[in-house]
Amino acid sequence: MKSQSTICVHGKKRKPEEGLNTPIYPSSAYRYRETAENVYPRYYNTINQQEIVDKLCQLEEGETGLLFSSGMAAISTCLFSLLEPGDHAVFSKEIYGGTFSLLSKEFAKRQISYSFATGSEVEDYADVIRPETQLIYLETPSNPLLTIVDIEGVVKLAQEKDIRTMLDNTFASPINQQPLSLGIDLVLHSGTKYLGGHSDLSFGAMITYEELHNLILPQAVNYGGNLNALDCYLIDRSLKTLEIRVERQNENAMKVATFLEQRPEIKSVFYPGLPKHPTYEIARKQMKNFGGMMAFELATDEMVEVDLFLDRLSLIQPSLSLGGVESIICSPAQTSHIKVPREERIKLGISDGLLRLSVGIESPRDIIDDLSQALDKITHLVNQKAYHP
Ligand SMILES: *Cc1c(COP(=O)(O)O)cnc(C)c1O
Repeated sequence: MKSQSTICVHGKKRKPEEGLNTPIYPSSAYRYRETAENVYPRYYNTINQQEIVDKLCQLEEGETGLLFSSGMAAISTCLFSLLEPGDHAVFSKEIYGGTFSLLSKEFAKRQISYSFATGSEVEDYADVIRPETQLIYLETPSNPLLTIVDIEGVVKLAQEKDIRTMLDNTFASPINQQPLSLGIDLVLHSGTKYLGGHSDLSFGAMITYEELHNLILPQAVNYGGNLNALDCYLIDRSLKTLEIRVERQNENAMKVATFLEQRPEIKSVFYPGLPKHPTYEIARKQMKNFGGMMAFELATDEMVEVDLFLDRLSLIQPSLSLGGVESIICSPAQTSHIKVPREERIKLGISDGLLRLSVGIESPRDIIDDLSQALDKITHLVNQKAYHP
């Protein structure tokens, strides 16, 4: 089998006159009398769509898949295609805010019930399974605390009870984690993040095996979350460098996490590659590398001090989203979890001083220097309070 870096670079062999890259086919009208199946963008079967799916299938070791206009289009289409009125689904305790909102606003209308695992252990999933449970949905590593769930453990539990499994693999990317090869039935991506990788594209994907794909496709056609040809072209450009981008982000993140761990202004660092991380051993077992995402807690709970730190950063941009070539940072309390009441948020482990960092591909020295000079700015505050971790 070809290695991932090679898969990323090479697409399908084109006719000599087409050059090495797949041409952009902008048509929404295709002749039907000469083709075996009707081709149409919303049928997810144009050349540009299919070539991206082929590449993603090779990277995720899946059989087939679909490309969507956003991560949420992929997630909602797959969930609503497989869950029916009366069904119950189990979700990871920490899930993406948009997915949380989908459950809380849209599930009841469809008479679908759901529970969250009570923690990140396999038993915490077993505890909430009911006779009518049809699906377990995992997000690992989680957002923003990078908690790792034992994928093979949950798959075993699900298979014993004939329950399907889905996994949002956005944070790891297929370079660091291949859930299908660990037994997961269906993988989801917000391609807006690592797969796109340049903070300029919005798309989603699902990768699975034929049988499940055939259950989802007719509904995906009805929901209509398909992607256009021009974006497919840009995705193909992005995917060529996916492996080297993610490898660099892995290396940079490890250096940055090790640096942060040693600073007195930091209370704790959440990075699955640090042996101190509570789920480090599982991460090592099921991930090829630990990724570019981390969170850390400043040794302060004052928003003004968090703001002082953010103001001082010059290279690292306080921004939403993640997974791009540039390092970006955000305060979950002020962004992804702004609508969660403070007390509840703190119970989830998301304090006012928590920051989430998406490490880019810049020089690790420059990223660390930027963090270092911004931490210097708040040193006196930490000392003044005689903070004891
Ligand atoms: C961003 C994100 C999504 C949603 O993707 P969109 O492309 O914004 O719709 C889903 N899951 C995770 C883990 C994400 O980070």
